[in-house]
Amino acid sequence: MTDRFLEGRSVLVTGATSGIGLAVAEALGAAGAVVHINGLGAGAVVAAALSAIRAAGALDATHHDADLRDAAAIRAMMQAVLATGPIDVLVNNAGVQHTAALADMPVERWDALIAINLSACFHTMQAALPGMAARGFGRVINIASVHGLVASANKAPYVAAKHGLIGLSKVAALEMAAQGSRDSGGVTVNCICPGWVETPLIEPQISARSVGGDRETGIRALLSEKQPSLRLTLPSEIAALAVWLCRREAHNINGAALPVDGGWTAQ
Ligand code: NAD
Repeated sequence: MTDRFLEGRSVLVTGATSGIGLAVAEALGAAGAVVHINGLGAGAVVAAALSAIRAAGALDATHHDADLRDAAAIRAMMQAVLATGPIDVLVNNAGVQHTAALADMPVERWDALIAINLSACFHTMQAALPGMAARGFGRVINIASVHGLVASANKAPYVAAKHGLIGLSKVAALEMAAQGSRDSGGVTVNCICPGWVETPLIEPQISARSVGGDRETGIRALLSEKQPSLRLTLPSEIAALAVWLCRREAHNINGAALPVDGGWTAQ
C-alpha cells in the first residue's frame, strides 16, 4: 500500500496535463496530497488528467489554465491556489523545446522558451517560498534537464534556460537553508535533471532519426548519441524521485541537481 505521508499537504505541479508532470501529480496524489495542476490542453485532456490524479489517490485535484509565458497569469494562478491554503510542494515542470542552430533560432522561440522554462519558475517560487519559510516546511522541485549541466548543439534557449534554472534553484536553496528544523523537514529547493524520458516532448527528435517511419530505430539512434544505458526513463521513475524528495528525511538534500540520465553526464 502507498505511504500516505503527504496527507494534509497541498502541491502545485506545472505542466501536469502530460508526460513527467502528470506522472509527478499522480504520484504526489497517491501519497495523499491535494493536487493543483497547471498545463495546457483541450477540456478532455485536462479532465482525463484530473481523473487520473484522483484515481491515484489525491484527496482533491484542480486545474489552473495559466499560460506560463504570461507573468500576470502566473500571479493570478498563485493567488488562486494560495487562497485555498498553503502550498507545501511546488513542482516547476512545464517546459518546451525547439531545436535549431543558434543563427536560425527564431527570436520568438527564444522568448517563449526562456519565459516558460525559466522565468515562470522564478514567478512561482517568489509566491510560494515565503509561506514555506514561515511554516518551516516546503519542497520546491524544479524539473531541469541534463541540459542544465551540459550542452548540446541546436538547443540554445533550452540549454540556457535549464542552466539558469539550476542556478536559480541554488540561490533559493541557500536563502531557505536555515528555515524550519530536522523535525519539521525544512525548506529545500532541488533540481531533477533527466536525460531522455519517454514523453511527447522528445517525439520530434525520435521522428527525425526514424528510418522509414520505424520509431524503434529513432529511439536507438537518439539514445546511442548521449545516454550510455541505452534505456529511456519512464515518467513514473522521475515521479518516484520527486516523491522521495518530499519526505522529511530529505531535509538536508538542498541545492542539488540530481541527474537521472543513464550515465550521460558521467562521460
Ligand atoms: P510534455 O510535452 O509531455 O509536457 C509539457 C507540459 O508543459 C504539458 O503539460 C504542457 O501543457 C505544459 N506547457 C507547455 N507550454 C506551456 C505554457 N505556455 N503554459 C503552461 N503549460 C505549458 O513534456 P515532458 O517531457 O513531460 O517535459 C516536462 C519537463 O521535463 C520539461 O521541463 C522538460 O524540459 C523536462 N525534461 C524532459 C525530458 C524528456 O526527455 N522528456 C528530458 C529532460 C527534461
